[in-house]
Amino acid sequence: MPELPEVETMCRGIAAAVGCRIRDLRRPKSRLKSILISPRINHFRRRVAGRRIAAVRRVGKRVVLELEPARAGSPHPSPLPKGEGTKCTGSPHPNSPLKKSIFESSGATAGLSSSVFPSVSPRTAGQASSGTLFRRTADPLPKGEGTKCAGNDLIVLEPRMTGLVLLANPPDEEHLRLVFSLEGGNVENVLFWDQRGLGVARLLSHKEFLQHYGPNRLGPDAMSISPDTLRERLGGGRRAIKVALLDQRALAGVGNLYASEILHRAGIHPAAPCRRLSAADWSRLHAAMRAVLRAAIRHQGSTLRDGTYRIARDDPGGYQRYHRVYQRKGEPCLQCGEARIERIVQVQRSTFFCPVCQRACGSRRRR
Ligand SMILES: [Zn+2]
Repeated sequence: MPELPEVETMCRGIAAAVGCRIRDLRRPKSRLKSILISPRINHFRRRVAGRRIAAVRRVGKRVVLELEPARAGSPHPSPLPKGEGTKCTGSPHPNSPLKKSIFESSGATAGLSSSVFPSVSPRTAGQASSGTLFRRTADPLPKGEGTKCAGNDLIVLEPRMTGLVLLANPPDEEHLRLVFSLEGGNVENVLFWDQRGLGVARLLSHKEFLQHYGPNRLGPDAMSISPDTLRERLGGGRRAIKVALLDQRALAGVGNLYASEILHRAGIHPAAPCRRLSAADWSRLHAAMRAVLRAAIRHQGSTLRDGTYRIARDDPGGYQRYHRVYQRKGEPCLQCGEARIERIVQVQRSTFFCPVCQRACGSRRRR
């Protein structure tokens, strides 16, 4: 299921929609039960029709389209360039998870999208991941200013198990769940496709967004959290480190697949209780998390055997070729070469690890 790298890839894939106006929203006719759409489709359509997409952001494992304010006849570029628009630009509250999104999109108004969002080729995506897109520490608003207005409406597309956000070429028509028709740019549609139909589409005011996805509900993003904060958010308890990594309230973005890969890279046993990890373990864990997620973003995510995950132009991702443990039970460890990968179940989810590289308390460093 899509985790941080896959959702990041979806965001980059639809970045050209920034600046376009939503002409219409429709739910294609289907025999299938609808995905959860809130508010109901007619109300949703009325509220988004005619609105311009000001920014595309990733929030944890969700794609978020930020809309410009609906004020006919007064185009309102938003978010504004840094240092301007300190009153009611609709920019996120300083504590909002939006601020920590990769798509810190100051200046991402119509026509600027290509400079803000480089093309989605693996090479540029990799460069971007270490470069200008990661300006999460920049604070476009003076402290406290963001609280004075309600902020912009946001469309949250949550892929959950098998959802995809695409510009074109969905894997099939049957499971196409929502079509945002656009105008005023080079993009015709933003599509939400979902095979299993567990995905969610929500239109939220900024206040509602904070209630659903604010700091009380969603931890810091895995690509921006500091080593100290990581330890603070996960550490201390008896909970197994693998289970803690999946807790989205503590840390946003990591799911089952990447948790196994990250722990293998860090040389930490997935069942090690958080409180048993040393300072060195935490720092290795942080570095491994960054390295694994960055590499996965560079390769545009992982397409597993079920084949449901596709990148925006309907190609598979590439990171599955670099998995070290995930779904490799019984195969030799690519790190040590001496042990075979084992599988255990933690909180009803499969965990894969190497019994040699990942010793019980995580105190042994890999080679
Ligand atoms: Zn090994």
